[in-house]
Amino acid sequence: MITSNQQPPRSKCVVAIVGGGFTGAAVAYHLATGDKAGAADIVVFEPRTEIGKGLAYDTSDPVHRINVPAARMSIRPDDLEHFARWIDQTGAVTNDPAAYREDGSVFPRRSVFGDYVLANLKPLLDKGAVKHVRAAVVRAEKQDERWHVTDGNGETLIADILVIAATHPTPVPPARLVAALAGHPRFIADPTARASLAPIRPHDRVLVVGNGLTSADVIASLKRGGHEGRITALSRRGLRSRSHAPFVQEPYGDFLLPPSASASELLVRIRTAIRAAAEDGLSWHPVIDQVRAQGSAIWADLPVVERRRIVSHLRPYWDVHRFRIAPQVAGVLDAEIAAGRLDVLAAAIVHAGTDGKTIEIDIRRRGREKVERQIFDAVVVTTGPAHGNVLASQEWLRRLGDLGHLHVDPTGLGLACDRNANAIRPDGVADQSLLIAGPLARGHVGELMGFPQVAEHALLVAGSIAARL
Ligand SMILES: Cc1cc2nc3c(=O)[nH]c(=O)nc-3n(C[C@H](O)[C@H](O)[C@H](O)COP(=O)(O)OP(=O)(O)OC[C@H]3O[C@@H](n4cnc5c(N)ncnc54)[C@H](O)[C@@H]3O)c2cc1C
Repeated sequence: MITSNQQPPRSKCVVAIVGGGFTGAAVAYHLATGDKAGAADIVVFEPRTEIGKGLAYDTSDPVHRINVPAARMSIRPDDLEHFARWIDQTGAVTNDPAAYREDGSVFPRRSVFGDYVLANLKPLLDKGAVKHVRAAVVRAEKQDERWHVTDGNGETLIADILVIAATHPTPVPPARLVAALAGHPRFIADPTARASLAPIRPHDRVLVVGNGLTSADVIASLKRGGHEGRITALSRRGLRSRSHAPFVQEPYGDFLLPPSASASELLVRIRTAIRAAAEDGLSWHPVIDQVRAQGSAIWADLPVVERRRIVSHLRPYWDVHRFRIAPQVAGVLDAEIAAGRLDVLAAAIVHAGTDGKTIEIDIRRRGREKVERQIFDAVVVTTGPAHGNVLASQEWLRRLGDLGHLHVDPTGLGLACDRNANAIRPDGVADQSLLIAGPLARGHVGELMGFPQVAEHALLVAGSIAARL
């Protein structure tokens, strides 16, 4: 570790990467193995024991599976089969026959993907090409054109380039629920925290707030743990993440020429393409896959006001079609619905209260006036990480915002940056020494949450840094 008392040799650039989930690890990997390998000291700050896993893949729950087939999740965008081959070579899913689908696609446990990313980093860590500092960054200050990066152990690294890959802030549960239920032992505000579901008892009536992939994970985890009580999963629109395509299809349609000038024009084109696909015997999946593949170019052509309209009005629909549920998890949910133990509701919560034991929730179903009271023993919030709140989520980020180094993208999806991932200051100037990697760059890139886009962005960030070495 290079501290402020020991200035590193000026000949070598120091790159500090904050966050060693998939994104931070992949930036380090590409930088340490690319054309300029060895030209920089690469330091990844990550409080977790191992890098490469992050929030998504640092899980030991066997029901947590990747939601994209293994053949599409590679650290190397130029070699999409890289992870799938690693699985074959290492026998990583030999003891997990449920990972395989009839069509030959593989959906391993998420921990397997984390192991794969770590396996790629391991040789680089062993030979010191990448350093893992097992601590969280608590302060970053720019002095004389260099970044002074202080971690929770009180050590300070002086870096030339600072990469922010801290991605998923902790969720911000709805204020109404916090006000009424804070302190209740079975009010679970962050189900991604380790053992967070442990207080839920086998026969508890559970309300899951949210219907996306985290909600599905929670329900599958509860079932694996032997939960037998009734579960209600509630969201405003009641939309569930869709299933994968019934058979493999190539991306369908074109959404680039001519560029769409508005959200509604884009929506009409997508609907038209879905109808045309159906006439050709295809499902909607390849159309959405094409929109995703062309996503950053589509986004770049849209004025900011139209991007905002997409975020406000279309995002819930996009998310459920784009982020598909692993078939094994979908199977658990479908069985629970069929058995009458799981209700999926489109409704809003209008009141919450508790006597310290049972929890009363008043809901208004979508399109109805009447308010209904429902009684639960536990409430789990799965509304997901609060990306628009990222600057407020950590003190050092808030300070970088206050000092004019960072600001939230106008769409509210993450941090403002340019096409080379350089942070854009509130005064509009791009800072080449401060980069935003991965999903926090979504405001500029558009679709950038899952694979393969998140791997492509890590490669872009590494290339952007390498160009300066
Ligand atoms: C539960 C879940 C499951 C997912 N499953 C899939 C999937 O199957 N397929 C898919 O394509 N996409 C999936 N995604 C999308 C996911 O966003 C990307 O695949 C990818 O994992 C994002 O990784 P990341 O490193 O950018 O973010 P994160 O996983 O959030 O990693 C960020 C890391 O930064 C660290 N950090 C935060 N603050 C600091 C600090 N101050 N100092 C040091 N370190 C810090 C955190 O500890 C964390 O490890 C999933 C997302 C989630 C949340």
